[in-house]
Amino acid sequence: MMADTDAGRAAGAAREPQAGVYWFGGDARWQPPGDGAPLTRTVHADVCVVGGGFSGLWTAYWLKRLDPGADVVLLEREFCGAGASGRNGGWVNGWEDSIGALVSRFGAESAAWLLEASMGGAEVIREAVREGGIDCDLAFEGALIVALSQAQLDGLRDLPRAAEAIGRGELLKVLSAAEAQEACGSPRAVGGLLLTRAGSVQPALLVQGLRRLAVEAGVRVFEASPMTNLQRGLPAIVETPAGTVVADQVVLTCGPWLAGLRELRRTLFIIPSHVVATAPAPAALDAMGWRRGRPFADARTAVHYGQRTGDDRLVFGRGGGRLGYAGRIVPAHFHDEPEIAEIVSDLRELLPGSRQLAIEWQWGGPVERTQHGTPWVGALGRHGNIHYGTGFAGNGVCPTQLIGRTLASVALGLDDEYAASPLVSEPPSYLPPEPVRSLGARAVRAAINRCEEKADKGLAPDPLSRLVSRGLDFSMPAKIRLPGRS
Ligand SMILES: Cc1cc2nc3c(=O)[nH]c(=O)nc-3n(C[C@H](O)[C@H](O)[C@H](O)COP(=O)(O)OP(=O)(O)OC[C@H]3O[C@@H](n4cnc5c(N)ncnc54)[C@H](O)[C@@H]3O)c2cc1C
Repeated sequence: MMADTDAGRAAGAAREPQAGVYWFGGDARWQPPGDGAPLTRTVHADVCVVGGGFSGLWTAYWLKRLDPGADVVLLEREFCGAGASGRNGGWVNGWEDSIGALVSRFGAESAAWLLEASMGGAEVIREAVREGGIDCDLAFEGALIVALSQAQLDGLRDLPRAAEAIGRGELLKVLSAAEAQEACGSPRAVGGLLLTRAGSVQPALLVQGLRRLAVEAGVRVFEASPMTNLQRGLPAIVETPAGTVVADQVVLTCGPWLAGLRELRRTLFIIPSHVVATAPAPAALDAMGWRRGRPFADARTAVHYGQRTGDDRLVFGRGGGRLGYAGRIVPAHFHDEPEIAEIVSDLRELLPGSRQLAIEWQWGGPVERTQHGTPWVGALGRHGNIHYGTGFAGNGVCPTQLIGRTLASVALGLDDEYAASPLVSEPPSYLPPEPVRSLGARAVRAAINRCEEKADKGLAPDPLSRLVSRGLDFSMPAKIRLPGRS
């Protein structure tokens, strides 16, 4: 039974859900930017940052911190935060849930550096929020990863061991079935992990605050100013519909839109994630064990995730949906009705305490993924003056800080630990051209879904699905380039 205090906004008595982002439309603290007029002339800059999400804003932040005299222009296609940065689930964590993968890909020493550097991002966010007076509900109460089947629990087992192996066992606390159930209100929980240093944020308010800090530091921000052409020369020239930036260095932080560049077209998959927000329901969330600052996820590949907002709504999402053919971003990445209907049904099933909560907001956003899950910083063109950072694979709120720091170092030509880190690299792999890429990705995803559906019922997957879901790496080595069609 839902507590009386929540009854006024219960499902049934509710208004129709709005197709829109709750973080923008439902939180009066977020204001549409009024001072980000479009670029309408030619301007010169030391550095032109293209893309006003977390990656671009952290790059601008660090450029001005490291070199206060640097003349920095930031161009944004729509408004700062219009991409994933203003639309996400608000989990704030480093790579403490990927330690094993970091060790096997980069070796123990580099993995330890990457782990610290990624988690250090949370400290930088905390500091920027405190110093800048950013009101964004940032809180760190640990983050739950809950196993909802024995197979998911098996998948989590290695993580604490990997953390202990590099002396960071305290980052992950193992939860019993009873503890996991109590913490999230799912009777299906069979165990889990607490990422002890993680937390959550209202992401659009963090973007808004970082944008303000950038403007205060002297960054010239132009919104409604998409880069329409990039001349890869010395200096580089960034063209927009009504103006041009002539810049010594360019930093591209366009998130999934980077897949539109010919050099990166074969490096990224585009896939959406969708989210719903319920009506405020403090008593129901208390009863389910949800706490502010302690977000939730399960251990599926198409992960379910959520958080309790500052005004006591349950925000709940799921990764997955329509693939962007050839790296394209399509309207269904921002709003896909069938995908949202499935997420609502998953929510009701996984968290019975949510069944009477009205859904008030629903939205989606595109995410770029690689086969490897770790972002990287690379360069385009012959002159070494065009840099980019991408590949966050659904975990970007905190890691964008590290990538922004690294991009600032390479754009300023610094010789520091960030510029020398293994994140600065060639693309980790190249994907096959279309249609092979989409067909392969669909086959793997369908196999993963079949395995996870079986696992949810406590059944073993069929051998073919297991093989395809685990074994098919259809990336290609970076050196083998097929004749480009670009
Ligand atoms: C629904 C959803 C839920 C998520 N949940 C989480 C979560 O809980 N925790 C987490 O850590 N991560 C989460 N993520 C991922 C995270 O939000 C991203 O990894 C992160 O925000 C990436 O930031 P970014 O700045 O690189 O890209 P973006 O935020 O996508 O920013 C790119 C910007 O570039 C602009 N742009 C594009 N093309 C051009 C152009 N030609 N000219 C000028 N500007 C351009 C876009 O408008 C956009 O504003 C989620 C993502 C989504 C979509």
